[in-house]
Amino acid sequence: MKEFWSGRIRDIVPYTPGEQPRDRKFIKLNTNENPYPPSPLALQAMGEAVGGDLRLYPDPECTQLRAAAAECWGVKPEQVFCGNGSDEILAFCFQAFFDPGRPVVFPKITYSFYPVYTDYFGLDRREVPMNPDFSDPVELLCGNNGGVVLANPNAPTGIAVELDVVEKLLQANPDVVVVVDEAYVDFGAQSAVGLIDRYPNLVVAQTLSKSRSLAGLRVGFALGQENLIQALRCVRDSINSYTVDRVAQAGAAAALADREYFDRTRQKVMNTRAWTAEKLERLGFTVCPSRTNFLFARHPGRPGKEIFDHLRQEGILVRRWDIPEICDWLRITIGTDEEMRTLISVLAE
Ligand code: PMP
Repeated sequence: MKEFWSGRIRDIVPYTPGEQPRDRKFIKLNTNENPYPPSPLALQAMGEAVGGDLRLYPDPECTQLRAAAAECWGVKPEQVFCGNGSDEILAFCFQAFFDPGRPVVFPKITYSFYPVYTDYFGLDRREVPMNPDFSDPVELLCGNNGGVVLANPNAPTGIAVELDVVEKLLQANPDVVVVVDEAYVDFGAQSAVGLIDRYPNLVVAQTLSKSRSLAGLRVGFALGQENLIQALRCVRDSINSYTVDRVAQAGAAAALADREYFDRTRQKVMNTRAWTAEKLERLGFTVCPSRTNFLFARHPGRPGKEIFDHLRQEGILVRRWDIPEICDWLRITIGTDEEMRTLISVLAE
């Protein structure tokens, strides 16, 4: 029944977002949302932005927000691009920097949107197998490709590489763009933003969805040299000039400026993560070393599906994939201390 569908989408298998249940109250540990509310200053700024001015289009260049981002990351405003969540940033990167014929490379186990983008935009890809411990197969991402995408820290494993590894990738792929997706970087990993002045082929993608508790606002950033930012602008202005609305621009700028709240809440998440990882290990789980707001864990004695289903029955949602290499692993978002205590006591039973 796809006779009216364009040939381009007829065979696409789209990305499946994590469940957002409406029928029942769950402890929601399945989509890596932050358990704490956004900065009160961000909420206040958004309240002030809701008014008569909404009859006007937003600033397509997000001038104030770009200034706030430049200040936050220590770059020039010309090195910042704003978008409707980092998913949009990534989609624009795949269109702006990659061509059919030369494969875009990324690890086999990573953010499952990347292969969807290559299919949708008609690009070739090479998914390189992970090391046995799920660390990134860095050597295999070097050379002979049309572009590189690296989630750092990776998802769903939570494992991060150090900056020297990112630099190695940039040096080994000097003729193509390397996109480093830093959605989770604020939970203990090192950002590559400080490298952009030295590497004309680096784009760093960031988001307010995780460490700034603003998944519902849909704001993401690309950081890179001006020439790359202009390419992203070219893609955007060929599709929709107004991707970040007025309320989002105001709230996002205020959230970036509230450093104190950001540091306090991400530290709480990291503390809860350490507690949870230890408890899981004591229950016999194998847990990947996480520098994100989630843990990737499996129990050697129980199939992942069984644990997943039992948790769901008990009102706890986590995430699991039907991919052979990881079908017994669960990705568990770090919630509040109380939510994690409940999780551990259900698992202990
Ligand atoms: N990158 C990775 C690795 C993610 O897990 C996510 C969240 N699903 C995103 C990017 C996109 O996040 P957002 O669009 O909310 O910024």
